[in-house]
Amino acid sequence: MAEDETLFERIIGGEIPADVVYQDEATFAFRDIRPQARVHVLVVPRKRYRNLGELAAADPQLLADVALSARKVAEIEGVLESGYRVVFNTDGDAGQTVFHVHAHVLGGEPLGLFGA
Ligand code: C5P
Repeated sequence: MAEDETLFERIIGGEIPADVVYQDEATFAFRDIRPQARVHVLVVPRKRYRNLGELAAADPQLLADVALSARKVAEIEGVLESGYRVVFNTDGDAGQTVFHVHAHVLGGEPLGLFGA
């Protein structure tokens, strides 16, 4: 493994097993190992950026690809009609732990308000 590979690059590369939900040329989506809702899937762009702001500034098309993959995941998971939430944690107070930008796709139950 390359020295500076992120955990998610190792998952995308197949070195670390994951429950893959969807993948395409630009993105890779798999179930979070510590689900916070009945549906909890991470959508990761194959190309690494540190966070949402860096991704949006450098490659807006790839950000759109992540959004469309999140929608695809919602469709696959059967929550397109009931609704779903997309979260990008950024740095300390938000609890970002993996510094390879990723969208949390959450749903399958009422999610309540933020900050609770
Ligand atoms: O937004 P944050 O950086 O905290 O999200 C990282 C997520 O990656 C966590 O929700 C964690 O449960 C998940 N994870 C995973 N598989 C791993 C390691 C972490 O799904 N092997």
